[in-house]
Amino acid sequence: MSEVPERGEYASRPPRSVGPVPPPAILEKIETARKLFEEYGALLRADARVAAQLECARRKIERSRKANVESGVAAACRRCDEEEGGSCCGAGIENRYTPVLLLANLLMGKNLPLKRRSENDCHFLGETGCSLDARHVLCVNYLCTRIQKELPARELIRLQNIIGEEMDAVFLLHETIKKTMKSAGT
Ligand code: SF4
Ligand code: SF4
Repeated sequence: MSEVPERGEYASRPPRSVGPVPPPAILEKIETARKLFEEYGALLRADARVAAQLECARRKIERSRKANVESGVAAACRRCDEEEGGSCCGAGIENRYTPVLLLANLLMGKNLPLKRRSENDCHFLGETGCSLDARHVLCVNYLCTRIQKELPARELIRLQNIIGEEMDAVFLLHETIKKTMKSAGT
């Protein structure tokens, strides 16, 4: 199966874009994820470990979103995107995604877009932000220097702890999905 997100990728996200991307790459991964979903979706949802990890990841993602709003990070990022043109969801970041991580999003009920909003944007950037729930560590973990400076230290630590729990939960979900499909004979 394809590359696994590296658990240790806690460093800064690359600059706004990671460069030109061969257009079919992400579409091929989306197609693979859809095929896996058709073949194994029911089995995965019925598996107790996968169901538990899905539920856990959902809770952690929601908690993380709430913390982003409460801390003011969500509003700062919206301003940055809409008024300053500084969104860091640039083209090429979608290539970090594996078919299994995309499959996790399908299991969470998300739709995977087939068209990109703009050639400079990440494939998954929608009108109201990211169209995914289960996101790569590079997406979840990134806080730019400005935000790190503006947030009070205590708030920054609280946010990082919550974000860390989201990353752990999504990583475990990814691994559990892989193992379950492997035992089913993929
Ligand atoms: S993390 Fe920083 S650079 Fe990225 S969108 Fe938010 S404010 Fe802008
Ligand atoms: S996957 Fe989502 S959060 Fe990550 S770069 Fe793309 S739009 Fe932004």
